[in-house]
Amino acid sequence: MMRPDLRKLPARPTTRFAPSPTGPLHIGHVANAVWTWGVAQATGGRVILRLEDHDRSRCRPEHEASIHEDLRWLGLKPDAGSAATFLGGRSAYRQSDNPERYQRALDQVRGVASVFYCECSRKAIARTLGASAFGEGEELRYPGTCRSKGLLPLAGRGIRVVLPEEEVIWSDVMLGRIAQRPAQQCGDLLLRDPLGSWTYQFAVVVDDWEQQVDLVIRGDDLFASTGRQILLARMLGRATPPAFLHHRLIRDDAGAKLSKRDGAPALATLRAAGKTPEEVLGLAAHLTGLQGTEAPIPAGELGRLFR
Ligand code: GLU
Repeated sequence: MMRPDLRKLPARPTTRFAPSPTGPLHIGHVANAVWTWGVAQATGGRVILRLEDHDRSRCRPEHEASIHEDLRWLGLKPDAGSAATFLGGRSAYRQSDNPERYQRALDQVRGVASVFYCECSRKAIARTLGASAFGEGEELRYPGTCRSKGLLPLAGRGIRVVLPEEEVIWSDVMLGRIAQRPAQQCGDLLLRDPLGSWTYQFAVVVDDWEQQVDLVIRGDDLFASTGRQILLARMLGRATPPAFLHHRLIRDDAGAKLSKRDGAPALATLRAAGKTPEEVLGLAAHLTGLQGTEAPIPAGELGRLFR
C-alpha cells in the first residue's frame, strides 16, 4: 500500500480540498478527499474547503450546492470554509467572490516580471506551432507571439507572464525529487483568459499563499503544473512554496485515468445505489491505493490509513 512518510510533511499542516463546481463530485474527488482529510487527521492538520470557480463559463451554483451536500453526507467537515459560511453569501474561500485579490496579485507580478496582453486563441497557437499533432486538452507551448506587440488591454485579450528560463526542483512527498522547466513546458503563462476569467494556475497559487496553505495534496494529473506554480509563488513574494503531495488517481482496468468524462461514477449514483458513506470512503481508499480491500471506513477514522 502507498503511505506518505509523515516526517516529510510540515508540522500540523494547513491543506485544502479544492473542487471546481463544474459538475457533481465523483469517486476521484472522494479519493482526493480521503487523502486530504486522512493526512490532516494523522498530523493534527487542518482542511480548508475552497471552491475553485475561477472559470466563470463552466461553474454552476447547483454544483456548488451538491458539493456541500455530498461532503455533509460523507461526514467530511472542513476546518475553514464550512457550508454555512458559503451559503451565507460572500466567502473568502470562493474564488469568484474575491476578484480584487487576483487583481492585486497581478499588480504584484507586474512589479517583478514581464506581463503582456495576448490576442491568441488556443486554435491560433496550435496553428502557429503547426500543431495538427496536438489533441484536445494537450499542452501547447505558447510561442511568444504577442510578447513584444505592446497590445492594449482590450476585451477579448488574455494576460500572460514571461516565466524565467530555469529548472525548478522540489521534493514531492510521494514522487521524490522532481525537476521541471516550466518555460519549456508552457512558455509564457496565461494568468487571465480572453473571456476575463483568472486561470486555474494563477488563482490556485494566489489562494494557497493568501490562505497560508503549506501542504498541497492532489492527484498526479496536476503534477505538470507544479513547477510553474512554484515560480508564480516566488513572483508573489512567497519564498518557501508549500509542500506538494501528488497521489495516484483512480484508474480503470487498463491503467487510464478515470474521469467524469469516461463515466467515473458520480457520488450521487453510488448514494442512489444504496452505498453508505463508510462504504464509499472505503471504496475510494481502496481504488487510490490506500488499503488492500474496500473495507468501509468512517470519515472520522481516515487518519488511520496514514499511521
Ligand atoms: N480545482 C482543481 C480540480 O478540481 C484542484 C486544484 C489543486 O488541487 O491544485 O482539479
